[in-house]
Amino acid sequence: MFKGIRLIDKLERERKLLAEEYLFMLHIRDAKTVQYLFERAREVRQIYYRKDVYIRGLIELTNYCRKNCFYCGIRASNKNIERYRLTQEEILACCHEGYDLGFRTFVLQGGEDMNYSDDKMVKIITAIKCQHPDCAVTLSIGERNYESYKKYKEAGADRFLLRHETSDALHYRQLHPQEMSSDERKQCLQNLKELGYQFGTGFMVGSPFQTPELLVKDLLFIQDMNPQMIGIGPFIPHHDTPFASEKAGSVELTLYLLAILRLMLPQALLPATTALGTLDEAGRERGILAGANVLMPNLSPLKVRKKYMIYDNKIATGLEAAESLKRLKENIAKIGYQIVETRGDYKN
Ligand code: SAH
Repeated sequence: MFKGIRLIDKLERERKLLAEEYLFMLHIRDAKTVQYLFERAREVRQIYYRKDVYIRGLIELTNYCRKNCFYCGIRASNKNIERYRLTQEEILACCHEGYDLGFRTFVLQGGEDMNYSDDKMVKIITAIKCQHPDCAVTLSIGERNYESYKKYKEAGADRFLLRHETSDALHYRQLHPQEMSSDERKQCLQNLKELGYQFGTGFMVGSPFQTPELLVKDLLFIQDMNPQMIGIGPFIPHHDTPFASEKAGSVELTLYLLAILRLMLPQALLPATTALGTLDEAGRERGILAGANVLMPNLSPLKVRKKYMIYDNKIATGLEAAESLKRLKENIAKIGYQIVETRGDYKN
C-alpha cells in the first residue's frame, strides 16, 4: 500500500511513471490505494476543469463498415444486422435538436463507410459549421488517408477520435484480421496530430488476450503521444462476432485506469463512456468520480439507435434526447458536478 501511495504521488508530480511502476500499480489495487488514487484524480481535474462536465452530442452516422474487427458488432461480415446510413438532412436535424438542448460539440461517429466520400464529408462538415459556427465538430470515422483528413480539417472539423485499440502489434493482430495493422492505425494518429486536430486515442479494457503488461504498453503509448482526448471503456462481447463468448472487461479496472490517465494528463478530455454505463448503471457517474470530465449522450435519431450495436446491451434508451439529458443532468448534480453548455475545448 505505501509503495502504491508513493507511486501515485510521483505520477501526480512528474506525470509519468516507468513501465515497472505502472505494472506495480496495476497489481496492487487494494481499497486504500484505489481510494487515494481517485481522490488525487479528482483533485487534479479540479485545477483545470473545476466541477464542470462537458457534453458531446453523439451522432451515429452509419453502421455500414468495410472492416472486420473481431470485437465489433457492426463488422462487415455480420449479416444479421440491418444497415443504415443517415442523410445530410438527418444529420443536420440531429445537430439542430442538440443545439437547442445546449450541445456545442457534435461527434460524427460511424463504421468505415466509403459511401461517405471526401466530398460528402466535406459538405456535411461545412453545413454543420455554417449553421452552428459556435460549435465544435469531432469526427470518429476510422482510418482514411492524410489527404482526406486534411480536407475535413480545412472544412472545419476540430477534433478526431481514433482509438489505437492496443499498442502492441501482436495483440493488434489477435483483435483484427490480417489486412489490418497497428502501424497503419498509429500512422493515422500521427497524421491527425500533424494536421492540428485535437485528437483522441484509447483502448478497450479487458479485450481478449489483454494482459497487465499490454496495458502498461498502452499507458506508455498514451504518455508518449500526449493526446488531448482519451477514450477507454470496458470490452463487451457482441453475440454475432468471433468474440461472442469472451468475458467482458472490468468496470473497476476501467475506473482505476481513468484515474491513472487523469494524473498522467491533467488537462485531458476524458469521457466516462457508454460502455462503462452499459456494464454498471452508475458507471458514468463513477467515471466522473474517478477523474473523467466528458459525457457523450446519444443524439442519433431514435429509429437507428438499436442498429448501431457495437456490443450487446448498449444503452439505447427509447428516450428522446431531451429527456435523457435531463436525467443525466440530475444524476451528475447528485454527485456534486455540473453539466455545462460550452464547446469544452482542451485547456492548454
Ligand atoms: N469506425 C470508427 C469508430 C469505431 S466505434 C473507428 O474505427 O474509429 C468506437 C470504439 O468502440 C472503437 O474504437 C472500439 O474501441 C469500441 N468498441 C468496438 N466494439 C466494442 C466492444 N465490443 N466492446 C467495447 N467497445 C467496443
